[in-house]
Amino acid sequence: MKGLRVKPGTKVSLDDYDPADTGRYRSAEEAADKLREHLDELDRLQNLLYAEGRRALLIVLQGMDASGKDGTIRHVMSGLNPQGVTVTPFKVPNDEERAHDYLWRVHKVTPRYGQIAIFNRSHYEDVLAVRVHDLVPRKVWKNRYKQINFFERILTENEVVILKFFLHISRDEQKRRLEERLRDPKRHWKFSQKDVEERRHWAAYRKAYEDALSECSSKRAPWYVVPADHKWYRNLVVAETIVEVLRGLDLKYPEPAEDLSQIVID
Ligand code: AMP
Ligand code: MG
Repeated sequence: MKGLRVKPGTKVSLDDYDPADTGRYRSAEEAADKLREHLDELDRLQNLLYAEGRRALLIVLQGMDASGKDGTIRHVMSGLNPQGVTVTPFKVPNDEERAHDYLWRVHKVTPRYGQIAIFNRSHYEDVLAVRVHDLVPRKVWKNRYKQINFFERILTENEVVILKFFLHISRDEQKRRLEERLRDPKRHWKFSQKDVEERRHWAAYRKAYEDALSECSSKRAPWYVVPADHKWYRNLVVAETIVEVLRGLDLKYPEPAEDLSQIVID
């Protein structure tokens, strides 16, 4: 799975990544035990992160409409202790947000120490949607890659670990999922005419994603390209990556501030 991590300083071409890849698994059933194992481990590690209270984890989820950002949050984060997690969806900026620099709304919701923050979309929209729709001049969004790298560096140098997942789906799979939203009454609420319009900009988004992945994958805040045509494999990859990274932190329960062996509860 290491191959999914974007090596800093490399030029990403999404053609090199198969959205339908399922690694060494052939079916959801085959991968089910592994996923269960990862989710249990995630629960254990989150508890440690929370107890230690010195570091935080920021998880960024990006991807085209219907790529599975909501589903990933529902499935992968289901086992987490709600007290230790925040989820923030980033929508079209409101008046208050638009009255500030684009990172203002982002920095406010980065995780507290001990916590995990999940971004459903993120500051990357400011070099994605904003770029595709020409919402600011080219030279403004161009400068943002560097700014985003600085911003993320401030976070990582201050004990916020950052993981960024690009949920990579094919255009055909997106079509299937959007059609499903039209067909299934239980999914109608998810359908938005805007998704149909956005889909027309597929090529421009792809280019914008390739640039964001190429410009902003760093050692301490890497991008992962997640094959996302198969939901079960997407969940597995995301869960496994988070577990690996948390394990690498060597989290420890903090030492008590005083000698507890002398304390008597009467
Ligand atoms: P959804 O995630 O389906 O609720 O849609 C949110 C919409 O908000 C998407 O179309 C995003 O592209 C859009 N969006 C999020 N952040 C920004 C931003 N900074 N500028 C413009 N559009 C944005
Ligand atoms: Mg949507």
